[in-house]
Amino acid sequence: MTNLQTRIEEQIDNISKFTATPGQGTTRLTYSQEDKQAREYIKNKMMEYGLQVREDGFGNIFGKLDGTIQDAPSILIGSHFDSVPNGGSYDGPAGVVAGLEVSALFKENNLRPKYPLEVIALIEEEGSRFGGGLMGSRGMTGLLREEDFQELTDQNGVSTLEAMKEIGLDPSLPKKRAPETIKAYLELHIEQGPILEDKKIPIGVVEAIVGLTQFEITVEGRAGHAGTTPMDRRSDALVSAAHIIAQIPSLAKEEGEGTVATTGKLNVFPNGSNVIPSKTVFTVDIRSGKEEHIKNVIRNLNELVDSFNKDEIQITVSQQLYMEPRAMNPNIISQLKKASSNLDIPYCSINSGAGHDAMVLAEVADVGMLFIPSRDGVSHTPEEWSDSLDIAKAVEILFETAKKLTEVEVFD
Ligand SMILES: [Zn+2]
Repeated sequence: MTNLQTRIEEQIDNISKFTATPGQGTTRLTYSQEDKQAREYIKNKMMEYGLQVREDGFGNIFGKLDGTIQDAPSILIGSHFDSVPNGGSYDGPAGVVAGLEVSALFKENNLRPKYPLEVIALIEEEGSRFGGGLMGSRGMTGLLREEDFQELTDQNGVSTLEAMKEIGLDPSLPKKRAPETIKAYLELHIEQGPILEDKKIPIGVVEAIVGLTQFEITVEGRAGHAGTTPMDRRSDALVSAAHIIAQIPSLAKEEGEGTVATTGKLNVFPNGSNVIPSKTVFTVDIRSGKEEHIKNVIRNLNELVDSFNKDEIQITVSQQLYMEPRAMNPNIISQLKKASSNLDIPYCSINSGAGHDAMVLAEVADVGMLFIPSRDGVSHTPEEWSDSLDIAKAVEILFETAKKLTEVEVFD
């Protein structure tokens, strides 16, 4: 095992100890005592690696290696350090540790960047305490307004400001960061899916974070007695819904390129075992890296629904959410790929099916993202695991890319 890999393992291990549920995975909610402990650990590591540490008014952590150009925008590198309840040790921290280790390589190699390198550790990406998610990145980019931030409370009615003060954070510190201060953002994250593991490839270069749309579909028929209503006299809302739902997977498969569609929720009314269902409400979640695929599935879904929309069965479709796919920066994608090739590290292109801070930072800066395999494709569980060797490979790729982006100079 190389030094780099040992250091990575040690840090992942150490950070995972800051959990409210020892022995049952990582539970590190934002502004909790465990947040405070992880925060101290990360800040100390940043100082050990020669970075200047500061926090913003949300409690996001920044460790900066100054550039030689005055007031130049920074290359940010990192991820989030909160977790879901009973989650794993890698979702978030893998990216924070990778950022730290890239900065360590700058130090070890005596590199001085022209543009500053900033390691970042963001709060509340999961939204497990205050809801919504991506709070650190939305906050620092100004997409989450100060008033809205202050109004958020957790399930016990504790406000963000009270919770911050509880662990000694200062909400009066500057919050929004001027977009001009960010040149680029790099993030390593675990894949949280099975693709890289199946292909036995250690690195996925993310092309896009998928776009997503969600529908709620209501099918209305007529209730009736399950024993006395003949089969040809029924308007069964559940049977119609079932026919539609059964065809939804093929709508996604027709598009291919990783397009997915899911019905995850179904409510039946009146929901009695001897009553013909009068109404069903179900959801459809459609995701793809390419917007045209999402649009095609929507069109075909509407056609499918229309074909069941008859006199006795009334169907209404309501779109609940639409987010377009967020492409990563083509120049950074090609630099990440070039670095992988130069280092002889196998990689493939991949889309992210989940949202990440990188998606938010892409609104204000050039963004690139790497994935590493997740064992059995699982995350958000104590069983979540990734190989520190893969993290080390990602660090080497990110180091090469960060050197290019920060335009390093070598000093003897
Ligand atoms: Zn994450």
